[in-house]
Amino acid sequence: MTEPMFVGIETGGTKILARIVDTGDRVLAEGRWPTTTPEAALEALTTFIAGATPGRSLAEWRRGAGQGVRCLAYVTVGTGIGGGFLVDGRPLHGALHPEIGHLRLIRRDGDHAPSMCPFHQNCAEGLTAGPAIARRLGVHRALAEDPGVLELVADYLGELGASLVLCWSPERIIWGGGVMATPQLLERLHAALGRSLAGYGVGDAAAAPDFCVPPELADPGLAGALLMARAVAQERGVGSRRR
Ligand SMILES: [Zn+2]
Repeated sequence: MTEPMFVGIETGGTKILARIVDTGDRVLAEGRWPTTTPEAALEALTTFIAGATPGRSLAEWRRGAGQGVRCLAYVTVGTGIGGGFLVDGRPLHGALHPEIGHLRLIRRDGDHAPSMCPFHQNCAEGLTAGPAIARRLGVHRALAEDPGVLELVADYLGELGASLVLCWSPERIIWGGGVMATPQLLERLHAALGRSLAGYGVGDAAAAPDFCVPPELADPGLAGALLMARAVAQERGVGSRRR
């Protein structure tokens, strides 16, 4: 069962800080972004919180695209890249939350675009999250309008998915977030995932047509947060009335 978490947010003129802690004040995740626009701040914060908590993958496992799957991965690609893992509905958790967005990728030949991650020159988030894509495209262009960038992003995300398969062998990966709403991206990503695995046996399950799927819930982050809040309330004997 999930445990309560608390999110602290500090907004300033030059930077925004966020910290997620558990009931023992143990830090689960921290984020820092430059202050730009309110819309960018909201997207950065929601992506950070959703990626750092198991809420989305809990919600999808119970009610959405992960129903009936024992081992489930959820990846969200937006301003950042986050992910959650569930086994029998329980989130996989170590000392801190997983940080799959910072897994290293192999730079493609000819790709000299600067990484947007302040820590890594070749991580998934630095090369393929929203800010990196926007920089590749230039102003006023959408990912769907540039087949070359679309294929490159799909290729990188497919490699990320292949790493998840090799590390953890999920039965399904749900791909959410604003970037993943791009037409054809999921299909191309799935094909790239297969190419990256190159026929290696552990990846056989990944060849299934429904291995890479979009979320089914309209707002899995919110649904997951509500499920978590309800679980906490039940643990504390508050609002335990069942419908
Ligand atoms: Zn990174």
